[in-house]
Amino acid sequence: MMKPIASLSLDLDNKWSYMKTHGDQGWKSLPSYLDVLVPRVLKFLKAQNLTITFFIVGQDAALERNRELLASIAAAGHEIGNHSFRHEPWLHLYSEQQIETEFASAEEHIERATGQKPIGFRGPGFSLSQGVLRALVRRGYLYDASTLPTFLGPLARAYYFMTAKLTLDQWTERRGLFGGFKEGLRPIRPYRWQTDTGGLIEIPVTTMPIFRVPIHVSYVLYLGMFAPALALLYFRFALRLCQLTGIQPSLLLHPLDFLGCEDTQDLSFFPGMKLPSEKKLEFVSEVLGLLSAQFTIRTVQQHAREVSQVSNLRVIEPCFRSDNRTSGHLLSKLIVFRSKFDHPTPRGTAK
Ligand SMILES: [Zn+2]
Repeated sequence: MMKPIASLSLDLDNKWSYMKTHGDQGWKSLPSYLDVLVPRVLKFLKAQNLTITFFIVGQDAALERNRELLASIAAAGHEIGNHSFRHEPWLHLYSEQQIETEFASAEEHIERATGQKPIGFRGPGFSLSQGVLRALVRRGYLYDASTLPTFLGPLARAYYFMTAKLTLDQWTERRGLFGGFKEGLRPIRPYRWQTDTGGLIEIPVTTMPIFRVPIHVSYVLYLGMFAPALALLYFRFALRLCQLTGIQPSLLLHPLDFLGCEDTQDLSFFPGMKLPSEKKLEFVSEVLGLLSAQFTIRTVQQHAREVSQVSNLRVIEPCFRSDNRTSGHLLSKLIVFRSKFDHPTPRGTAK
């Protein structure tokens, strides 16, 4: 019997982009772990016989020192997608002109480094707006993969804001990160966005049917740090629900699923960075084993092409309401509270 398909992607976030989002000024020298990460991931995927999508950040592709590494990803047969140029999770606040510039430079450098022109996009931090969708349509993209329909967004955001080192300006800028509760109501099945300039396939990152909690590999790995057996049970249950509801999951990986405490010290604020990489790889391979036992794993592009053939595919007009005012208000109180707590004396926005 033919197995239904699932898609798998990896957001190639670099060390600097994590530091940038976290408000660590050290990001500006663009520290990188790609030289360790890329060969390790490629070896892993080859051993598992997997071809997936890598969403690449333009800024990394623009650096001479990364060209060969990024070319090796395309040479191994993987799909190359666009993960923006500057990796700013507040991309949805850009003007259309800024979005165009961002896309143009990302595409130019990604294509030069890998030989592939991306036709799939994932916004940094799942940032998406009407302007982003319109730009994707204008630029001839086949699909977007920037939605994560989960109710846990606001919790993730609270955790992030409690641990990040940000100035007041940065707090305000990052307010829209991780989405509000309404994100959880977006569809988990693929659909077509209809904008005034044309259409685009959306492949949401799958969350658990009905419960809308994350099930992507990085999240399962995170649960696995506390209780590995339980995390695998949770993942099995999620896959069973996908099967029962006829959902073809699209899951994602992150660099930190492959990097351990021996690789980098600067990211210790991330949960799971105290484990050695060997342990992580073992677990990730177990999780992916469960996925491929039930589904044929493909790139997101192949997934989107299959979806585009569906005759009664749901069509949705983009609607992004100005980001949830209530939680924004509560958050601004939290910001004031925290900034008082951290900096008892008034202080400017030191850069
Ligand atoms: Zn990212």
